[in-house]
Amino acid sequence: MGYNIAIDGPAGAGKSTIAKRVAKEKGYIYVDTGAMYRALAIHFLKKNILPEETEKITDACKDADVSIGYVDGLQQVYLNGENVTSQLREEAVGNMASVSSALPKVREQLLELQRTLAREKDVVMDGRDIGTNILPDADVKVYLTASVLTRAKRRYAELKEKGIACDLEQIAHDIEERDWRDMNRETAPLCQAADAVYVDSSDMTIEEVVETIIHLCK
Ligand code: C5P
Repeated sequence: MGYNIAIDGPAGAGKSTIAKRVAKEKGYIYVDTGAMYRALAIHFLKKNILPEETEKITDACKDADVSIGYVDGLQQVYLNGENVTSQLREEAVGNMASVSSALPKVREQLLELQRTLAREKDVVMDGRDIGTNILPDADVKVYLTASVLTRAKRRYAELKEKGIACDLEQIAHDIEERDWRDMNRETAPLCQAADAVYVDSSDMTIEEVVETIIHLCK
């Protein structure tokens, strides 16, 4: 069993930035489980399935194989052997992932991949149900969150920097919708594990959050 650090929390809380930094400092592997749900979403979109077509999504899982690898320390995600990493952040992919990840079959598809990685390696794994469901015995569990406005502002700044036109109110609305879906689905909803440390990063710097987590590791 590797040393396992589980970081869960809502969209835009800074999980991936923080998890990457912690992984680098500790010399562990960073596992982005959201990217795996996004890879499956690409599979469904390729088949022209709509997010509301739940039966088709469930059926389409049977010919989807998601795996991950690392190039220069960066996680690459493969869908049926094809590297789909560059497509993961597309808006349509995020929307499909947010809806399809609620389906039990979709979650089941990725469970073993996530558990195997954590068994074999020292990992910092981020997602929504890592501490509660995937790695209930993780050595360190963190529930990382921030206010909706803070998360919306961060996303707004990110998009602006990329030159993408966006609206702060719309972003905040989308974040609230995604939170609601993640927290209210029947299978493995997003919630704080009883033994997770709650960290609100709204008024913290990246360094402060990283330090807080490193401090929790024995
Ligand atoms: O974190 P990210 O936005 O990349 O995740 C994409 C979607 O996958 C999220 O909207 C969330 O609904 C879902 N997800 C999940 N469980 C995880 C990771 C992500 O349900 N462990």
